[in-house]
Amino acid sequence: MVAVAEVHRILDDYDHSSVSVATIGSHSALNIFKGAREEGFKTVCICKKGREKTYNRFGLVDDYIMIDDMNDTASEEVQEKLRELNSIVIPHGSFNAYIDQARMDEFRVPIMGNRTLLEVETSRVKQHDWMRSAGLKVPKIFESAKDIEELAFVKFPGAKGGKGYFVVDSEAAFKKKMKLMLKKNLITKEEAKNPYIQEYIIGVNAYPHYFHSPLRDETEFLGVDKRYESSVDGVFRIPVPEQIGQEISPTFSIVGNFPMVLRESLLDEIFDIGEKIVKESEKLAPPGLIGAFCLEAIIKEDLEIIAFEISSRIVAGCNALIGSSPYTYLMYNEPMYMGKRIAREIKEAVKEDKLKELVT
Ligand code: AMP
Ligand code: AMP
Repeated sequence: MVAVAEVHRILDDYDHSSVSVATIGSHSALNIFKGAREEGFKTVCICKKGREKTYNRFGLVDDYIMIDDMNDTASEEVQEKLRELNSIVIPHGSFNAYIDQARMDEFRVPIMGNRTLLEVETSRVKQHDWMRSAGLKVPKIFESAKDIEELAFVKFPGAKGGKGYFVVDSEAAFKKKMKLMLKKNLITKEEAKNPYIQEYIIGVNAYPHYFHSPLRDETEFLGVDKRYESSVDGVFRIPVPEQIGQEISPTFSIVGNFPMVLRESLLDEIFDIGEKIVKESEKLAPPGLIGAFCLEAIIKEDLEIIAFEISSRIVAGCNALIGSSPYTYLMYNEPMYMGKRIAREIKEAVKEDKLKELVT
């Protein structure tokens, strides 16, 4: 991994009066670009050929760096262009989904966030350990399919957006569904070698978004979304007899997100959870979390909050709140959302000559 000292040297060569905000054109790029523009920054889109159409429609990009393959984001040529444009790169889900970790390890451009914590996302075990050590309630883990003794959730490596995941209640059901997922090409043979099996949590999903400001030394709660996943959110429109007849195996491919508000009595715990995660991150990988981070949780009928995933970056659910959220409306005297909050922190850091506190 590129040493922080090296990133700071690169930053020393930047023209701090013309810093730009860069990211890959996908996932939450529109959110990031809009926020950057609102705070007065130029925007740079690292864009796979063909996807510029989407970004042109919204007119939020100042400079495009075109690539043939997402993995080329970390090529020498792209890195050089980014440095020439004095870019601060904002990581999102596509960095993990589409770029090999080995290439990201050689990415010599300042990234807003903590690289060590961004890498945690590649390991469900590390995520689980982080949340558990922080004192959060987490699902039980089954070491192998043989141990399945209750409703279990089977996932596969990487940020796959829920594709090919399934629910089972026994080893026999596990074997049957695994075959079905392979047959339907929803998972690859390689992925099938590494199933990750968790207790299935019954409740409703709620995904809170946070921002940790190193400049203000504060953890802010910006909003919460819930997901709309295919086919699981569609199968219940089919009457039960037909569901049984079709032997439907719902999967969890993400399609979109809804903004959400939480029951007010849950808010204190939501703030506490964010603060606990930040505290633990400071031990795990000093200086700890920088900027956006988000959790995936399920709230049970007894209002217990069970966290099952963590992202040390912006998540696409924040897109449901571009403009404002009920919570940012309460806390800021102006419209605020994740992309803008990120850019605001960069703006303040430039002004106070503290950019080094934000990038690794
Ligand atoms: P895309 O921009 O659709 O190519 O997505 C980039 C990556 O982010 C993929 O791994 C997706 O599965 C993931 N992703 C995109 N949108 C969402 C979302 N709303 N929630 C969770 N993951 C997402
Ligand atoms: P993930 O890829 O971990 O974000 O999971 C994709 C989706 O699967 C989530 O949005 C939830 O709908 C569902 N999910 C994940 N883990 C669990 C769990 N332990 N229990 C119930 N549902 C889950």
